[in-house]
Amino acid sequence: MNPRNRRQSVVTIHDGRTHVVALCRGFRDGLPVFGWGEAPATLLTRTQLRAAGLRPNGQDPVALLVFRHHRPYARETVAELFSTERAAPRRVPSPAQRRALAFALRARRVCVECAREKDYCVPTSTRQCWDCFEAEAADATDALEVA
Ligand SMILES: [Zn+2]
Repeated sequence: MNPRNRRQSVVTIHDGRTHVVALCRGFRDGLPVFGWGEAPATLLTRTQLRAAGLRPNGQDPVALLVFRHHRPYARETVAELFSTERAAPRRVPSPAQRRALAFALRARRVCVECAREKDYCVPTSTRQCWDCFEAEAADATDALEVA
């Protein structure tokens, strides 16, 4: 677990047929807030749903993804997260598309640095797991302190 996120709340998300229990950073507008790469793998943004051949299917968002880009002055970005369980296919997916979705979901959990599959999605910007990201961030902080 990322040691930087000490203030976390346990949240139960009703994800269609199942309930997903996850650690979130708090709540906004009554929705659990996840940081980049921390949301449960079954929750996707509108863009990610589209990439997976799905659509929200009239459901309300079940959570929010809140993150900043790497530059410290970059403004906060908020994306609504939708349940893949309650999403509908944009068209009937072929077996190839189903395989592509399964592959995409798995790929989102594999770190490019250590090649381990994590139980969360790694950020698409770095494709690193939090352990590797933290290690790099720590190096960068050390460099700053020396400078
Ligand atoms: Zn890693």
